[in-house]
Amino acid sequence: MRLKITNGHIITPFRYIRNGTLLVEDGVILGIHEGNVDFPDAEIVDAGGNYIAPGFIDLHIHGGGGYDFMDGTVHAFLRIAETHAKYGTTALVPTTLTSEKEDLLQTLDNYEEANATNLKGAQFLGMHLEGPYFALSQRGAQDPRYIRNPDPKEYEEVLAYSSSITRWSAAPELPGAIDFGKRLKQKGILAAVAHTDAIYEEVLEAYENGYTLATHLYSAMSGVTRKNAFRYAGTIESAFLLDMDVEIIADGVHLPAPLLKLVYKIKGPDRIALITDAMRAAGMPEGESTLGSLKNGLKVIVEDGVAKLPDRTSFAGSVSTTDRLVRNMVQMADVSLLDSVRMMTATPARIMGVDHKKGTLVAGKDADIVIFDSDINIQKTIVRGRVIYDKHFNEHRL
Ligand SMILES: [Zn+2]
Repeated sequence: MRLKITNGHIITPFRYIRNGTLLVEDGVILGIHEGNVDFPDAEIVDAGGNYIAPGFIDLHIHGGGGYDFMDGTVHAFLRIAETHAKYGTTALVPTTLTSEKEDLLQTLDNYEEANATNLKGAQFLGMHLEGPYFALSQRGAQDPRYIRNPDPKEYEEVLAYSSSITRWSAAPELPGAIDFGKRLKQKGILAAVAHTDAIYEEVLEAYENGYTLATHLYSAMSGVTRKNAFRYAGTIESAFLLDMDVEIIADGVHLPAPLLKLVYKIKGPDRIALITDAMRAAGMPEGESTLGSLKNGLKVIVEDGVAKLPDRTSFAGSVSTTDRLVRNMVQMADVSLLDSVRMMTATPARIMGVDHKKGTLVAGKDADIVIFDSDINIQKTIVRGRVIYDKHFNEHRL
């Protein structure tokens, strides 16, 4: 199976190759060339003068297309993967919310089956458990009934139950959280600080014991606080100061343009991953929706391009898609297209430990590719050399 993608501007994403050609064989990138080259017996994809970039990698996502990963069905996994593929995502990390243990274990079971049958959507990169070990005061839209301190008996049972957990977010200041971080590190699982009130000294200890990523920077985490006359740096300042990775919900709503610019200025493109943190209403019309599972979820309202609690006092999840994140970094934060794409591809691949096969257009890596126009409208999405979304085809079929 050979594929030749030609007549486009390739974003590697470390440089441009104008009018380049990309050759694919058996789902793997064979080579990248300037100009057109012969490639006998290949299916030809004409990029039409658009950009050709690595597929987008979303490290933190709960749902889309009307489904949530915690709906309790394999079908939900597959529909979410297909929905986000239309917006340029070629790999994603399905994320849970704090829940009953039974619902969590069911979701882990569903992951296995969905992963084995997922042919039409973005690929799965293992499960991200968001909670339940969080600071109650920073729970955001996480259900307070299930929030608790890390308990080895409990997390060892979950770790033994599934080998597909690749990321876990927790508040590092909780009793037991340092041991928990060490255990995750030992298992090769990405440990992230999240929904936390930690001060610098606590984040430093966490960092030295396995926590390397700040989950949705600025959302549900401490900044500078004062106790009597004295000021304390919070998790946000710690993430800036330490050699940590950060992820940001660059939907243009959770973080306004000045904060997108600030994070970019301080951390740079090799420390920032753009994430959707999308709930089920992503890729759907605005209106009423449910955050979390249909059974135990929270009624929310989607307006202004974001989900809100019904009283509008807080956001309740993003409805973003990855194309929108890249577009926002370019158009709102004035970041170059190369760096914006890098934060959606190479950097998340490195953070997730899959950079040996994903995240850049390099010979030998998976042929996960997106083609988009100058406004980041996705034209085609290719996963391991297979076109799984074609805007032209979809528009003409309707
Ligand atoms: Zn989340």
